[in-house]
Amino acid sequence: MLERCLGVRRVRQIQRAVRHGTVTFLCLFLTVVVLRGTIGAGKFGTPELDFNEIRDHLSYTRRRGEPHRVLEEASAQNDAGTAAASNADPNNYATFDISKILVDEGEDEKRDPSKPYTLGPRISDWDEQRWEWLKNNPGFPNFLAPNKPRVLLVTGSSPKPCENPVGDHYLLKSIKNKIDYCRLHGIEIFYNMALLDAEMAGFWAKLPLIRKLLLSHPEIEFLWWMDSDAMFTDMAFEVPWERYKDHNFVMHGWNEMIYDERNWIGLNTGSFLLRNCQWSLDILDAWAPMGPKGKIRDEAGKILTRELKGRPVFEADDQSAMVYLLMKERDKWGEKVYLESAYYLHGYWGILVDRYEEMIDNYHPGLGDHRWPLVTHFVGCKPCGKFGDYPVERCLKQMDRAFNFGDNQILQMYGFTHKSLASRKVKRVRNDTSNPLEVKDELGLLHPAFKAVKVSSSSSSSS
Ligand code: UDP
Ligand code: MN
Repeated sequence: MLERCLGVRRVRQIQRAVRHGTVTFLCLFLTVVVLRGTIGAGKFGTPELDFNEIRDHLSYTRRRGEPHRVLEEASAQNDAGTAAASNADPNNYATFDISKILVDEGEDEKRDPSKPYTLGPRISDWDEQRWEWLKNNPGFPNFLAPNKPRVLLVTGSSPKPCENPVGDHYLLKSIKNKIDYCRLHGIEIFYNMALLDAEMAGFWAKLPLIRKLLLSHPEIEFLWWMDSDAMFTDMAFEVPWERYKDHNFVMHGWNEMIYDERNWIGLNTGSFLLRNCQWSLDILDAWAPMGPKGKIRDEAGKILTRELKGRPVFEADDQSAMVYLLMKERDKWGEKVYLESAYYLHGYWGILVDRYEEMIDNYHPGLGDHRWPLVTHFVGCKPCGKFGDYPVERCLKQMDRAFNFGDNQILQMYGFTHKSLASRKVKRVRNDTSNPLEVKDELGLLHPAFKAVKVSSSSSSSS
């Protein structure tokens, strides 16, 4: 339960929120009313109330705010451009001014602000549509074996380069790590770098993406969202799929912390499983209204801070919004939500990374829990952003340790290991032989049983 210490996260966001805190009481009140209505709390009035007034207020502040910001960006780019152009060898990557090729053409699509935000056209018969498709496309079964659903792991990052180029290197390590786990476990991967909906930037970007993928891939039974700052640290652990046969949404968390304590860290939305079904489309719709950036997200953040235990002041985030939705509407959603704590579907890095050596001495991969965590998630590190909530050196060192810890389980298959958890270098752990197929990898990951495909006797004979 040390994860309770997580309250220190997002300190920077709080500072930013305070800097931007020039909101009138009128706007606060009206937006509270609207959000109450749209996300179903419904105690204070009707959601339709005074939409026009809010719209006028919001478009006024936008009109005033935007030109200034655009001018600032343009002049910053010009300064950088002239400085680099004056002394650079055009063949030198190290001195090339990256802003020269970062082009964002075209206007953002603008939503009609008089209409409440939606993720897309209302769909109410997805289960029927999907079963029909599955029936007509037997080559794309949603289960690969009785307890092995077809799973798509989805992750992604901003379309722009990271603030510090080293952030992109860590994104590369993180996707390499996920590719390894997914290859071993027969899971497909989607990496997204497109912001599908400009209003849902940042941690909310996953919502429109997830909906689009569920609807485009009826063959997928479970979608596994995983943050870019989370890494697999147990390459051998297979998710206990049969445990979730009666559930649609699996997150790491605890019932008591959500429903009794209303704690904002009672669950984590950095790594979760969502079944492809009508229920999931419905919960995405119920989850989204606090997401649109700007005033809606800022004002919703105030409600969340007021209503949830331990939450600092900052704009609405997807995690707090999910806690809020579940505690407000437990009857509607609770039955199909599985809050998992028997293994680390998400594991907070702060309590895990210093214990890796101890785990190596005492345990082995395949356990997934505190003895050998499935996932280590670098909550609050923001390796691709400008500011995190922790010292950069600590985050990057610990991310290297988590990467190497997971990577050792991959390298052992080929007879190598990292020299230490801190080292990029590797060493041999066994000698090459002239009978390579007789060598068994320690963890049996080269040909694990769960990867084997059952072949019918007629097709197994070689021709
Ligand atoms: N993300 C994205 N596009 C963006 C920004 C973020 O897809 O433009 C994803 C990315 O995978 C990131 C996740 O959103 O890991 C959530 O943000 P973050 O991990 O920084 O939040 P934290 O876990 O620290 O709360
Ligand atoms: Mn994260």
